[in-house]
Amino acid sequence: MKKKNKDLINRKKFWKIGISDFNTQYFDFNKDGELIVKEGNNQYNVRYLAEKLGTPLEIFFPFILEERVEDLLDLTSALIKKNHYGGKFYYHYPMKVNQNKEVVMSLVGEGANLETGSYNELWLVKRMLEQESFNPKIRVICNGPKTDKYINLIDDLQHRGLKVIPVIEGPNELKVFRYSRYSVGIRLDIPVKVQSRWDKAVDRFGFSAEEILSLGKMKNLKLLHYHIGSQIELLSDILNPIKYALDVFFKLKKINPSLDTLDIGGGMPIPYNRVKGYSVNSLMAQILKLMKTEADKRGMPHPDLRCEWGRYIVAPSQITVYKVIDVKNVPPKAGRAKKWYVIDGSFMNDLLDTWAIHQKWHVIPCTDKPDAKAVKVWLAGSSCDSDDIYTGQGSSIVLPDHEGNGGQGRLYLAFLDSGAYQDPLASHHCLLSSPLKAIAENGQIIVIRRRETPDDVGKLFGW
Ligand SMILES: *Cc1c(COP(=O)(O)O)cnc(C)c1O
Repeated sequence: MKKKNKDLINRKKFWKIGISDFNTQYFDFNKDGELIVKEGNNQYNVRYLAEKLGTPLEIFFPFILEERVEDLLDLTSALIKKNHYGGKFYYHYPMKVNQNKEVVMSLVGEGANLETGSYNELWLVKRMLEQESFNPKIRVICNGPKTDKYINLIDDLQHRGLKVIPVIEGPNELKVFRYSRYSVGIRLDIPVKVQSRWDKAVDRFGFSAEEILSLGKMKNLKLLHYHIGSQIELLSDILNPIKYALDVFFKLKKINPSLDTLDIGGGMPIPYNRVKGYSVNSLMAQILKLMKTEADKRGMPHPDLRCEWGRYIVAPSQITVYKVIDVKNVPPKAGRAKKWYVIDGSFMNDLLDTWAIHQKWHVIPCTDKPDAKAVKVWLAGSSCDSDDIYTGQGSSIVLPDHEGNGGQGRLYLAFLDSGAYQDPLASHHCLLSSPLKAIAENGQIIVIRRRETPDDVGKLFGW
């Protein structure tokens, strides 16, 4: 018995679960070495769900999502009080990160405001408004290039009383919005270099500081916005752009006293590879301190703060589960792995960032028998594409040896943090079906996207 307990503790350590810094405090192994997810006193056995619902499978956990946004709002309001910060904080959920209804509705229910990047996303906001599915006091920031349809819809929703703030991204938008009677924002292109895959040498978004400061008076200017990139790994890379933006902000406020809000966009990272980064607590404390110092120095009021962190809030709320359907040998000396594990889904389709941005994932076996040996593997997707693989991005993945038990019994693999960006980017290479999607909430499992039939997928291509 004692040995079994120790095994369990070691195994939890090895797979880095049960650790808040890694967002794995919800995961555990039961006494049989099976992966479970705990929601209060409810718990979900992932192997059982995979067998019951089939694979590939996506499981969305609203409680994880809700807890994350709640924590962010509580943390920030406590810091504002403690530091006597004079401005307010608003969280805006960038819909492009995951537009699934259950995700957006869960976030709005916890007090999130919204950010849209396209006409179609704003159209969903209109539908929610008409269905009275949110508090009409909600605020919506509209980024992205403004087509005529997008502009008309912004106008329509503003007339209906919804607080919609378009962010001006270019000269044509400036003509449309600068004399509008509703509040507007403007996007600043920040020339500060940061460590993020998305920080390009030449940026096509927004205006330079000089351009913005030479625009003259805009009676309706409320908000200065920038977005520098996603998955920003260094805390200083979040603070330095804020410092740059604040300098522009206070100069701009002298021309436009109505300006009262700094919107710092997205970028808060996720520890995909389970290396400890900075915490949201220390980041938020430092952001507010910086904003307070810079405002006090100039004798200006503390600006309101808005952020649009998407990945950080949503990624940990979903896992993707595959079954290992075959095991093959990697030729000796060919690489760092001994075996290929072939899975019944596709990285290029269901976890497209594996291919697009060389995303690292945290992969955990849904059953880890105490006597199973470990083996270094590569994973192969079910499409015919030689790029449809996951090698731990040039290394290997350590998993239980599936052949140790004769390839019998089933091996299921859980990919953590699949909640951000993977659904919107998903595709149908080789006409494979998308994973079935289920929600796990209050001990209940609800299937919200059934497995596509050949007919369903064929229809997408005119069959
Ligand atoms: C993509 C995007 C975000 C979200 O970025 P994350 O890295 O997911 O936090 C926020 N704001 C804008 C304008 C974006 O384009």
